[in-house]
Formats: sequence, structure tokens, C-alpha cells
Amino acid sequence: MPGLPPHNTAVKAEDGPALDDLFADDDKPKLPSAEATLATMSDLSNPFVMLTYYRRCFPFKQLFLWLNHGQVPTRQFTHREFAMNLPNDVYIRYNSYANAEEMKKDVVRLNPARFEIGPVYSGRPKDKKVLMKNAFKPLLRELVFDIDMTDYDSIRTCCKDKAMCKRCWRFISMAVKVLDETLRNDFGFNHLLWVYSGRRGIHCWVSDPAALALSDDQRRAIVNYIEVIKGGAKQDKKVNLPRPLHPSMLRALETLNNYFPRVVLEDQDCFKDPEQWETILALLPDRKHAEELKKEFEATPSKASAERWKSLLQIKASNELTLRKHRDFVEDIKLQYTYPRIDTEVSKKLNHLLKSPFCIHPGTGRVCVPLLASQVESFDPSAVPTVGQLLMELEELARSGGSVGNGGVDDKTGWEKTSLRPYVELFEKYVEGLVKEGVRGRKEEKAESMEF
Ligand SMILES: [Zn+2]
Repeated sequence: MPGLPPHNTAVKAEDGPALDDLFADDDKPKLPSAEATLATMSDLSNPFVMLTYYRRCFPFKQLFLWLNHGQVPTRQFTHREFAMNLPNDVYIRYNSYANAEEMKKDVVRLNPARFEIGPVYSGRPKDKKVLMKNAFKPLLRELVFDIDMTDYDSIRTCCKDKAMCKRCWRFISMAVKVLDETLRNDFGFNHLLWVYSGRRGIHCWVSDPAALALSDDQRRAIVNYIEVIKGGAKQDKKVNLPRPLHPSMLRALETLNNYFPRVVLEDQDCFKDPEQWETILALLPDRKHAEELKKEFEATPSKASAERWKSLLQIKASNELTLRKHRDFVEDIKLQYTYPRIDTEVSKKLNHLLKSPFCIHPGTGRVCVPLLASQVESFDPSAVPTVGQLLMELEELARSGGSVGNGGVDDKTGWEKTSLRPYVELFEKYVEGLVKEGVRGRKEEKAESMEF
């Protein structure tokens, strides 16, 4: 790697990057004998970076327990598809592993930029080529959801495109609150893991056994139930709900009412510019009212969204029908600006692949870390560690003579000494609950089968 400082600058000459010493016994890529800096450790084009992350930090054991729901490997892990995204857009599908150790070994061998998790098949994915076609079918899969800031581009005002800040994260917060409530209350799911996608989105993995067993039709039905915001960028009216509103929608509105003034009116100032307020005036049921407001808004170009909203709420209703239509309009606008916008294609199919938690986002270098719905509001995406930061933390540790572990799947030292620790611990605690229920479920099944 040209341009790197010589061997003997900040680090002692014999050291190179101290982490390198650990791998002296093999021919894996290394950081050239050079100073380890945040810049070199963040360079994802250097194979050393991801390799060291997989060897030292990635929690393979916890990932195994999460997918397997127990300590002893079952089909839920051994028949699970992993797809590897190698550098240069090479994509290897249908990898499967006997256990966490085998998986780690292969990930280290392939050193993918990231990898995705697919369904549990009736046969082992790695045997796909030799299996009869009807012996290879997807059987189980977590129910997954994907919320991405792209779907908020028409309403967020602070950032555009790939950018995301703490302020637009509030749209994600609202979405998570509502979707979490819906999945728990309306569908009875308990095991929901939220995972930050590393840049501007969030994934939800539902791991209840009943969720895993859902057919494509059932997944589609759930998506139809949840999907309220419909239509592309050109469609002004994105909410078309039958009245009276479904109890689930009333509950969502109650939650979202707490956010709407703060996020939509104040923070994002969503109705400040003409093209923004024109959109909502177009949806106002009373055309005369809309014309009056248009004049008023044009005459007051600097008026804040909260003021405009106040004017919108005031209506001189001549009859019950007008009043009701106006009330529906107010609810629809609130939902249109706050209700979860989900990427429905991700959730509809059993055999969809989704990026694994704890992978590294190729654009930002950030870890895709798990979080709980209760933490989403205080979550700061810009505070999530990057792979470069983690490797530097380990490098400092190695330089100061501390142990950075042996690299086995049970070895905690790699992540425990870094800022990845709280995220892995949260994941461990979450997985513990899932494994406990798995054990209870299997005991109950056994007891039932003995009764006959
Ligand atoms: Zn923003």
C-alpha cells in the first residue's frame, strides 16, 4: 500500500500494528508494516480490516444462538442460508454451516464485505446442487421489516439522499414505536430485535416460532395490515383508510400525536415552503377553505409550520359531514407524516435475504448494531462505533500489552474491551430470552407427546 508511513514512526519498529502479531502464523492479509491509524484501520478496501473485525470482534456465538434458539445446533442453524457479499460484487449464495465455529472459519476464509441471512431450508443449502428440487424448499424465516430514510425524502427537510442526522432519525423513532406496538399487541409477537442498518435505516427481526413459520401468504397479509402509506412520490394522498378507523390505527394515532407537533411542525418545519403546504392544501376536503388558506399562506411566506397547521385546524363547518371530513383529513395528514413507511418487498417473502446484525455498512464503516424499541429515541446513529474505531481500540490494547483474546467463538476479549461491548451484551440478553423460551417450548412438546 503506497503512501503509508514507514515502519518505525508511532509504533515500535518491531511491532508493526500490534494486532498483526496475532496472525503471524498464517498467510492471511495483513496491514503492511506501517503505522496503524484510524485512517488505515477504516480502509475497507484493505482486506486486513474486515478480516481482523471478523476474527476479533464479530459475535459469531451469539449470532448462532439467536438463529438456532438453543445451544445444540438444530436445522434452524444447519439448514440456514448465508449469502456472502465479497468485494468486487461477487455474491456467493447457499452457504450453510454445522455450528458457529465452522461459520466463523468460513467467514474468515471468504472475508466478505458483509453477509446476509436467508431462510431455513428443508435441506442443507450447501447441498442444494445435489438435492432433488422438491427436497429443497424454504421452510422457516424470521419475519423481517425494513424502514429506510429514502421513503421519507419527500417529507424530511434536514437531509437528502444518503445523508442522515439525529433529526431525521426521529422519523425512524416514531416508526419503530408504532410498528413495535402493532407487532406485539395485534399479532402477539414477543421477540423483536431492532437493528440499525449502519447508515439511514433500521431492520426488525421477529423471532417468535409462530413468526418463523409464517407462509408467504400470511406474510403478505401482515404487510397489507401494516402498510398504510401507499403511492409513489407523485401521489399527494398517501393515506386512504376506511372510517371509522381500526382500533390499531387509533392506538397508533395516540402514539403519533405525541410526536407530530414536535417533529413535523417544529423540528422539520414540514409545511414551511409553498411546495410543502401546497401538498396538504390539495388534500383539504373543503375547496373554499383551501383557496382561503392559499391566499393567507402566500401572503405570509415566513410563517412557521405550527402556525399554518393552526390555520388548517380552524374550520367553519356548516354541517356534520363537512366537520367529519375535516376531522378525517387531519388524521390522514398526521398519519401521512408520521406513520411507519416500510419497504414492503422485504417482508413479504420467506426466502428474502437480509444483512446480518453486526455486519459493517460498506458506506459508513459503522457496525449494524441491535437496539431495543425503548432505546430508539435516545439512540444516536453517529455514536455507533465504526470498524476503524474498534480496531484502533484493540490496537491500543495490544500495544499496551493487554490480551486481545485467542479468536475462538467463545472468546469475549475481542469485543469486550471495545465500544462494541454494550451492543453485544444487549444482544446476549435478548438472545437469552429467546433461548429460554425455546427450551420451554421443546419441554412442552415433549410432555405433550408423552401424554399420548
Ligand atoms: Zn437529517
